[in-house]
Amino acid sequence: MKKLLILSMSLFAAMMLRAESQTITSPDGKTELAVELEGGKAFYSVKYEGKQMIERSALGIMTNMGDFTQGLKAEKGLPEQRTNGTFGGHKHSYTMQNTKASKGYYDYKFYGLSLKNDKEQKINICFEVSDNNVVFWYSIPQHKDAGGIVITGEASSFKLPEGTTTFITPQSDPMVGWMRTKPSYEEGYSLDGQMTQRSHYGRGYTFPALFRVKDDGWVLISESGNDSHYVGCRLSDYNPEYGYKVEFPMEGESNGWGSTSASVPFRTNTPNKTARTPVRTITVGKTLKPIVETTIAYDVVQPKYEPSQVYKPGRYTWSWLVWQDNSINYNDQIEFIDLAGAMGYEYCLVDAAWDTKIGYKKIEELSRYAQSKGVRLLLWYNSNGSFNDAPQSPKHLMDNAPARRREMEWMQRAGIAGIKVDFFAGDKQHTMKLYEDILTDANDFGLQVIFHGCTLPRGWERMYPNFVSSEAVLASENVFFSEYAAKNEAKDLTIHPFCRNAVASMDWGGTIMNKYLSKDNKSRHPRHTTDIFEMAAAITIQTSIQCIAIQPNNLTELPEFELDFLKKVPTTWDETQYIDGYPGKYVVLARRHGTDWYVAGLNAEKEEKKLSLNLPQFAGRTVNYYVDDAKKGPQLQQLKVEEDGTAKVTIQPNGGIILTR
Ligand code: CA
Repeated sequence: MKKLLILSMSLFAAMMLRAESQTITSPDGKTELAVELEGGKAFYSVKYEGKQMIERSALGIMTNMGDFTQGLKAEKGLPEQRTNGTFGGHKHSYTMQNTKASKGYYDYKFYGLSLKNDKEQKINICFEVSDNNVVFWYSIPQHKDAGGIVITGEASSFKLPEGTTTFITPQSDPMVGWMRTKPSYEEGYSLDGQMTQRSHYGRGYTFPALFRVKDDGWVLISESGNDSHYVGCRLSDYNPEYGYKVEFPMEGESNGWGSTSASVPFRTNTPNKTARTPVRTITVGKTLKPIVETTIAYDVVQPKYEPSQVYKPGRYTWSWLVWQDNSINYNDQIEFIDLAGAMGYEYCLVDAAWDTKIGYKKIEELSRYAQSKGVRLLLWYNSNGSFNDAPQSPKHLMDNAPARRREMEWMQRAGIAGIKVDFFAGDKQHTMKLYEDILTDANDFGLQVIFHGCTLPRGWERMYPNFVSSEAVLASENVFFSEYAAKNEAKDLTIHPFCRNAVASMDWGGTIMNKYLSKDNKSRHPRHTTDIFEMAAAITIQTSIQCIAIQPNNLTELPEFELDFLKKVPTTWDETQYIDGYPGKYVVLARRHGTDWYVAGLNAEKEEKKLSLNLPQFAGRTVNYYVDDAKKGPQLQQLKVEEDGTAKVTIQPNGGIILTR
């Protein structure tokens, strides 16, 4: 009898150690999240249509209060799936102006896991599972009377199945590059790379990261909702044990100053009194369609303030891309304002050093002149006081509220429409706060904001309604700087719709129409893409204020049909559809502006691409077909789309197509 009791007790103990798990499925039943608790550790995994997309991966955070990566227990076992969420219910819709879609619909299943660590401190790990997306975040209930919690790191990881290939871009070393301005998310991409390959700097990778899980599907990993209460995170190098882990900023960022950890307040003014982390997003699909079309970065955030006015999307001319520093003078800016006026563009961007080379009084004059042509100015600013060596002025104005607000008040009086703020310094919390402070103040003075030399925006188009877009990409300036980048332009622009530009707006900085990257349009290296490629890129690149880097000489050089297209090209989209493509090889997207569809394709491969596209929006109709003819060059033709929506098209190497009515 005694023996039996011991036996049953040890059986009971063994049962206690067994994994507890729960499965949560998306509304359409295809995306499946599994949550597990084993040996005091929490794990999750993700399947799509029964195929493993993320294998068992770690959860948990390290804090100054206690460790939430081990010794975790669920007092009442793992709860059953619930259907209503902690914020906004399990279904909500919203509108936005500055992204790939004007309406977001978010229909999800919420799952909250309440755990305690060894010290009996509580943490909630929260999940939402929607069709093709799994997101999670941590929410820590207020501990005693603490005002906040310092999160020093995370165990959160993403373990992709073996054989997965990567489409990822490395994090740079800190304080390297031009005037020690990195990291600025301006690195190249691996294409179908191996997970085991070490990252270029050994610093891991920046968000977003795209993975191909053999023939089973695609996974896009990113984060959203990072604001002044967190740091910007990245992924570690690959480790066979845990995959890719969430990493905090590097010690050396911002000239080595400032903490790498995150200080998060307990929101005692909310019913739960919790401290929350940003949301980690995982988008999965059998094809690239859900990756290109996802709005998850926006679904999981809320606007932080109301827009102070209706902000106008549009196009801008930019003298600096080709005419460079010498063009920052009164007369050249008149030329680019006139060019914007002739094209019917809304904006003209005046780049660095305008304060000394043109001066405030003359800028006021230029602004008045621009407005007389229906154009408004955007002005360049240096973000920094001290955290890198970028010398360009105006400096010391955007990094402190009194100077910034005084400057913005002047801009408002002078009729300036927006600012481009350049040269930030990494992802520490003080820098994330600087972005938020600039955006918030700019809204008070009716200014829209573009960031350059900067981090990835994480849900910001919705959080900050006057935020337009960020560079955070190896952008068009490199096409000017080197022929190497010019040769890679087609490849680069066929990666971003699936990755960088799938989670956030991107200021690429220009549809370039000069044949040569020079003011005389004869010297220096040539552009390697066709005219139709560049025009189509104005559709595939998504940002609500798009740079059309047309030059004054282009007005007399370009065929009438190209100029007509560039005059009318929209920059805001009600809907975006993936049609076809493969990262780094080719892409075909459809975007809808009101009732007008624009189908745009780019080819980065060496051979011409013959595609049979399925375009129900054009079924049985004759559309305008912008295409490169191998012999005759850029053409505007008519194309009859078949009754079933089939359109047969050919895209030349480094060329493009556009179909529109
Ligand atoms: Ca840059």
